[in-house]
Parts: sequence; C-alpha cells; structure tokens
Amino acid sequence: MSASEGPGNAIPASLPLRNDLIGEEPYGAPQLDVPVCLNVNENPYPPDPGVVKAIAARVAAIAPTLNRYPDREHTELRQAFCDYLARESGAALKVEQLWGANGSNEIMLQLFQAFGGPGRTALGADPTYSMYPEYARDTFTAWRLAHRNADFTLDVDATIAAIRDVGPSMVVLTSPNNPTGTTLPMDDLRRILEACEQAPVSGANEGVHPIVVVDEAYIEFRDPGVPSAATLIGQHPNLAVSRTMSKAFAFAGARVGYLAASQGIIDCVRIVRMPYHLSAVTQAAALAAFEHTDEQLARVLHLRDIRQQTAHWLKTLRYKGQALQVAPSASNFLLFGGRFDDRERIFDELLDRGVLIRVVGPDGWLRVCMGTDEEMARFREALTEVLPIVERAE
Ligand SMILES: *Cc1c(COP(=O)(O)O)cnc(C)c1O
Repeated sequence: MSASEGPGNAIPASLPLRNDLIGEEPYGAPQLDVPVCLNVNENPYPPDPGVVKAIAARVAAIAPTLNRYPDREHTELRQAFCDYLARESGAALKVEQLWGANGSNEIMLQLFQAFGGPGRTALGADPTYSMYPEYARDTFTAWRLAHRNADFTLDVDATIAAIRDVGPSMVVLTSPNNPTGTTLPMDDLRRILEACEQAPVSGANEGVHPIVVVDEAYIEFRDPGVPSAATLIGQHPNLAVSRTMSKAFAFAGARVGYLAASQGIIDCVRIVRMPYHLSAVTQAAALAAFEHTDEQLARVLHLRDIRQQTAHWLKTLRYKGQALQVAPSASNFLLFGGRFDDRERIFDELLDRGVLIRVVGPDGWLRVCMGTDEEMARFREALTEVLPIVERAE
C-alpha cells in the first residue's frame, strides 16, 4: 500500500453531506500492522509497570462514580498541568491559565471554533502540520500560508507582511515544527507577537488583534536551556501555547492535550467546549501519569541522543553521489533526504522490510521518528539496503 492511499469510503450521493466535504477523505497516517512503526512520532517506550498500576488504581477509584458527569472544569488536572509547566519550563501560571482536552488536536479545534469561523482567516507557515487545514475547513475558517525559508526557519519578515496583508484572527506557529523539527527562536516569536499586537483582524471590530498560537507538541525534546513560549504568556495576553502528553510524555493513547494562555483566551475556549468534554476516566489516567512524571519522561534524553546519532548517520549516506540532507531537529523525528526523486518508492521498499516511516513534507523528503534502539537498528539496516536498489531502478 502506498502512503497516499486512503481507507476509501462508502458515502451514498443521497446523503446531505456538506457540499464542501464531498469527496473528502478522513485524514490520518496509515495504521498498519508492521514490526517497526516510525511514522506518527509516538514515544516508543511503554509506561513502566508502576505507572500502569497507578493508572489502574486511579481509574478503579473513580469507577463507582461513573454514573455522574465528570468535573467539567477538570480543576485538579489543570493544577497538574500548571505544576508540570512550572517545573518543566519555569512558567509561573495560575490554574485559570490552563485548560485540557482530548489531545492537543481538540485544543486546536477549540481554538479554531472560538477564534476562527466564517469570514475569519488563520495563517500558518509552510511546510507545517497537515491537521491545521482540517481544523480550518471544519470551522469554516480560511487557511493561508506564509512560506518558510529554504532551511525551514520562519521567514519572520514575510510572516509579518502576511499578517498585515491578510488580517488573520489566528497565527499558528509550530515549535519544534512538524514535519521539519525546526525551532522558533524566542526573538522571532517576540517580533511576531509585537506585530500581532498592532495588527487588525479582518472582519472584526476595531481594536481586535490576532492571537498567536504556538504548538509545542515536541517541546520537551528541545536542547537544554531553550525557553518555552509558555514563559511569555504573562506579557502577551494574545499568546496561546498548545501542549500534549502524546509525545515526550509517552501518553498518546490516553488523548490528553492542554493549553496555556491568558485567562481571557481560556475563557473564550470554555464557550465552545462540549459540556463534560474530558471524561472522568481520562482525567484520572492523566493525574496518575503526572504522579509519575519522571518515569514518563525517562527516555526523552535517550531519544534526543538517538536523534543526534541518527542525524549524523543519515548524513553519511549518499544518494546519487550526494550526501543526504537532514533538517536540524529539536524533536523526536528527522526530516531527511531532500533530493529523493521517488520518495514513495523508498517508503514502499522500507515497508516491504517491515519499517513504516512517513511520506510528508516537501517533495524529495521523508520523515522518520525515533524508535527504540532495536527499531533504529532495523531502520538503518533497511535504509542501507534500499537506497542502492532505488538508485539502480531510476
Ligand atoms: C502529534 C502532534 C500533535 C499532538 O496531537 P495530540 O492530539 O495531542 O495527540 C499536535 N501538534 C503537532 C504539530 C503534532 O505533530
């Protein structure tokens, strides 16, 4: 199966599906049963048995109350997000400045529901996460892109020009960016924030300015000493920082994301959330995981080392006489290649050898996320075999 193949659908033409959704496919990376899955940037290490026990105990404790709706405001969990951010990033926030949801996917959707909508535009920086246009479509928000520099860093001048030109209600920046791994330096973010604090929002009242959403899904993989955008929230009421437990925190299956922002932004999001959106089971599991933060994050340093080693190794490989390019990454994945003439073929050949990576990003590139040591050994072995075969075939 090729990476672009969708699951197909069986929607009869007689159903009144929204006109703009006709012909659309449900989005998502292929979920294939292969030995080495390096395609969706998960943490490859399972929770340790102590954490599993704590989750089971917390869920057992609330199970007898499941006839009741959960705490709509999930206050205990918001306090846990708050404590975690203080510890992880040194951000001093109040519980009212935090908000949780079912993955940062839901956080982003809620932001689009509150700040996007008909007549509104959201601005991103290409190449970036392929879910953003879906949130835009689903909320009838126009989606526009400023283009990144050739090295995938943000073109700050072009982005500011686009903000003035488009009048977006939301500017969505990703740091580290997916699929490139690129960080957004604080000085660049400050310039964007300052531009947004002056810029009008097309279709909104005078005195309204865009919000800046920084998606920090992979921020725990950054180099030591690099600050998080969460530390700027106190000075910038229009800044929203989206986080997730899915990646570094090794909790993708639990579906927990969170938002750090001014209380004003949180209160806007509270208007559009479904009542009781975060189940009591989810809240209990997340609280248990936060009781074991050290264990959950135990492999982050190791994965960062593996990323460095893998980047170094990839650069020693050659394709058509030239060394492979590897985009500098502060996340748990690497975008590599740069000049592949037929990346689908490389993807397929790797898949034939039981290694699933991702066809994503600009043409000529592929993305691989960091697995366990054994999985990375399999990846290296497979890629070493595949590159000469693909070259010969072309
Ligand atoms: C993986 C990822 C997310 C996380 O999504 P969850 O819903 O929290 O699992 C968010 N943003 C980006 C850019 C990602 O790559």
